[in-house]
Amino acid sequence: MAASDAAVLLPGATLGILGGGQLGAMFAAAAKRMGYRVEAFSDIADCPAARVCDRVHVGDYADTAFLARAAAGLDVVTFEFENVPAAAGRLLADRLPVRPHPDVLFTTQDRAREKAFLVRHGFPCAPHRVVHSQAELHAAVRDLGLPAVLKTAAFGYDGKGQAKIVAPADVDAAWAAVHAGPDGPQEAVLEGWIDFDCEIAVVAARTAAGATAAFAPTRNTHANHILDVSSVPAGLPAAVLAQATEMAGKILAALGVVGVACVEFFVTKSGAMLVNEIAPRTHNSGHLTIEACETSQFEQQVRAVCGLPLGSTRQVAPAAMANLLGDCWFAAGDGRPHEPDWAAAVAVPGVRLHLYGKTEPRIGRKMGHLTAVAESVAEAIARVRGSRDAARRGRGA
Ligand code: AMP
Repeated sequence: MAASDAAVLLPGATLGILGGGQLGAMFAAAAKRMGYRVEAFSDIADCPAARVCDRVHVGDYADTAFLARAAAGLDVVTFEFENVPAAAGRLLADRLPVRPHPDVLFTTQDRAREKAFLVRHGFPCAPHRVVHSQAELHAAVRDLGLPAVLKTAAFGYDGKGQAKIVAPADVDAAWAAVHAGPDGPQEAVLEGWIDFDCEIAVVAARTAAGATAAFAPTRNTHANHILDVSSVPAGLPAAVLAQATEMAGKILAALGVVGVACVEFFVTKSGAMLVNEIAPRTHNSGHLTIEACETSQFEQQVRAVCGLPLGSTRQVAPAAMANLLGDCWFAAGDGRPHEPDWAAAVAVPGVRLHLYGKTEPRIGRKMGHLTAVAESVAEAIARVRGSRDAARRGRGA
């Protein structure tokens, strides 16, 4: 380990974050509160992080001269976004500590490599086959059976680049859907369809010294493959939650994560756990930690990448988070965006509104979220759902 890798970065240091989205903005807010300077790298100037950071370096991640220039004044770099070219991460890692190391990103940004990592280390995941051609896909379907889901290996998120295959007649259309686009055929992963009981996620942090701390697993529900509502406690047997937490810690250690990562699981009807995805950064599932826990996932990321002691992950109240997608702006059904009724949304007791400052609402785009804490998790879920409904209703939905 280089001497700089072990150094503790105290307030006053300058932290770099690759990506200028809402995760970068919430990281910057936590870091600035603690007295750090924050500079983001983004390909657009008017990004959510620009509202909070001291400086945004606007350029292309593939432009090595840009990256080298922007990195000059930084003490450490972390990520809020996975689709950073591996070469960009390595160029930065030659100059300063990059946490997590770009090798972690290299493994997790590609589903085929991520699955190979899980299998190699004995972590359970859905049955799958890596395919490179239509003929290989037909063979994989015969092998795994149906239903199944085909996913692009690289650059997929929130269900993008995915096609469910229910019947043999769907196979060719799924291949065409996943492989459409200017770049032609790429690698894909066929996964057996898991008839799960529920989905949970564990956000955890790990320091360079190997200390780890996990937040309580959240129960996640999705709509159109995009996270809709997260809640804690997840309402599962303590043994299941303990197993997920332990497995997440082992995954962070096996990957060598320094920073925050999220491990998403399918919980099967028999209580078994399968790892769905790993994101080596803060995660939408952890947004409720801002209100619900003694330390937020964003402060934890600051602590982990700066080599500070990790904060307490103790949950202070049951909580729920509901995403605000661009869809809320189109609830009136006239095809035009209308600002939702935020006054009605925040009138619901216990609800906190987070808007990311994105100017253009689009269907499926994450524009903000609502969090509520309450006496019970059912009440917290009812509050965020009620608040979101009120925001939509106020505009004629
Ligand atoms: P992903 O982008 O892989 O996390 O997929 C988004 C969502 O699609 C997941 O959170 C699940 O709700 C659903 N999904 C993905 N893969 C599978 C699978 N193999 N079986 C059942 N549902 C899945």
